[in-house]
Amino acid sequence: MKILVLNAGSSSQKSCLYELSNNTLPEQPPKPLWEASIDWTVASGFARLKVKANEVTQKEKWESNNRRMDIAKMLDSLSDGKTRVLEELSEIDIVGHRVVHGGAEYSEATLINPEVKEAIARLSVLAPVHNPANLEGIEAIETILGSSIPQVAVFDTAFHSQMPQKAAVYPIPYEWFEKGIRRYGFHGISHKYCAGRAAQLLGKPLDSLKLITCHLGNGCSLAAIKDGISIDTTMGFTPLEGLMMGNRSGSIDPAILIHLLKEYDFNAEQLDEMLNKNSGFKGISGISADLRTILEAIAQGNERAQLAFNIYIHRLRAAIGAMVASLGGLDALIFTAGIGENSSLVREEACAGFEFLNLKLDLNKNASSPVDKDIAAPDSAVRVLVVSTAEDWAIAQECWQILTKVRESKS
Ligand code: AMP
Repeated sequence: MKILVLNAGSSSQKSCLYELSNNTLPEQPPKPLWEASIDWTVASGFARLKVKANEVTQKEKWESNNRRMDIAKMLDSLSDGKTRVLEELSEIDIVGHRVVHGGAEYSEATLINPEVKEAIARLSVLAPVHNPANLEGIEAIETILGSSIPQVAVFDTAFHSQMPQKAAVYPIPYEWFEKGIRRYGFHGISHKYCAGRAAQLLGKPLDSLKLITCHLGNGCSLAAIKDGISIDTTMGFTPLEGLMMGNRSGSIDPAILIHLLKEYDFNAEQLDEMLNKNSGFKGISGISADLRTILEAIAQGNERAQLAFNIYIHRLRAAIGAMVASLGGLDALIFTAGIGENSSLVREEACAGFEFLNLKLDLNKNASSPVDKDIAAPDSAVRVLVVSTAEDWAIAQECWQILTKVRESKS
């Protein structure tokens, strides 16, 4: 079965192709046959394509005024040139898309039809950067591969859809909950994948575990997972709530916004820009949203960079503590994404807050660039895992399951 995955960001489109057996799914992510990404941020009005396949990496840059044509060009490299892995694009059996917002309606991966497309478009008001880009990818595939190719939407909100109401409803007048203002949570594809992988690594059934997954990348969120279900998470109505992030503030006192509106003549766009683009590591340090740059600045004695790091860790520990309380215990703490997988310092500092739980890190294992490993000391009461997140693989698995069911129902 050949599965194409599209993962659209605000200014990028990543894609990969998996070839899987029709009979069983491998336990661990296989290497994709082909990987590609388009970056629309390199230079204004230009698209840069990077393709990896057949042990070859190719790069190309062109003037761009139509993102759908750029996506078509990216897909051409599947059946053309040195990165060719298919005779024809029609060999693709199914296409899976990461869709950021599925609202309250979608609690699982879903075959795309006009109604699903309409819902993704309608939910764009809640994810104005991502949902339109996701829809663009879906429509580009319809144009390139024809409307009969099955396409699947895998929602980043779906994993959190079973959160109990006490975690999902904001304590504001109830009518707003009825109008859809509630906590949705995000990064669900990653949290779900990491929880499943952690259960595999621990050799225990997922439905017997209390887990906290820490997705720490440019965007950061935690999920409290009990018996395989997300019962609490740090992101809420939008991906702005919760932890401090690269450019995003995370949670702040909402009265600050009222103050800025009233006393400083801020408007909605300025507030949006401040909280989503100019806060977090970037806003405090004044240097960068990237933790690596912050750590370099700290090494050179930059006090604002140090303060940014200290706030990040303080808030991360506080949020982990809140998730422990929601779970009423903890079997494993799991770190993933750019920071979670690569920064031994962040893992060490985060864990240092939980020695009272008898959570003990093995510092040598923590420093050893662990991938899918338990880095807790043997006598730790809580396991600590580093899991390499595999969102594209999780999307491919959902596609495999859906297409297998469709084929079974036809046979
Ligand atoms: P992601 O959004 O998952 O791609 O994560 C991106 C973030 O991971 C970057 O902004 C960096 O701050 C962080 N990151 C990646 N590699 C490292 C590293 N080796 N050490 C510290 N932070 C890293």
